[in-house]
Amino acid sequence: MTLTHIEHIGIAVEDLKSATEYYEKVLGLKCYAVEEVKDQKVKTAFFKVGDTKIELLESTEPDGPIGKFIEKKGQGIHHIAFNVKDLPNALKETEENGVRLIDSEPRKGAEGMNIAFLHPKSTFGVLTEFCENPQDKK
Ligand code: ZN
Repeated sequence: MTLTHIEHIGIAVEDLKSATEYYEKVLGLKCYAVEEVKDQKVKTAFFKVGDTKIELLESTEPDGPIGKFIEKKGQGIHHIAFNVKDLPNALKETEENGVRLIDSEPRKGAEGMNIAFLHPKSTFGVLTEFCENPQDKK
């Protein structure tokens, strides 16, 4: 498989608004998109840092994956996302290498990306996301 770069780092926050203020006012980044991903029960805010993005994640429901994560571990880094060239093939290869997948099939993530998660039990504790930009295929 080919990983091209770190697409984004996902960070779980309790309050998107105050976290956005920190990233904008203190770190000087610009929030260029806010998007709700209903499927994941999250509201996201995106910032660009070179080729990599910061994806802030606020839970819209206490029982969503981010709500549960914060309850268990507190705010902080939630996942790391690699950009991959061929997501279905990357998932197949990963599974063949004995890694547990959360998503065996690609699904739609924020920004129209095709995404899939690997299980942190198989990735040394790091929830890992693969992202494929459908625009890259054209
Ligand atoms: Zn992500």
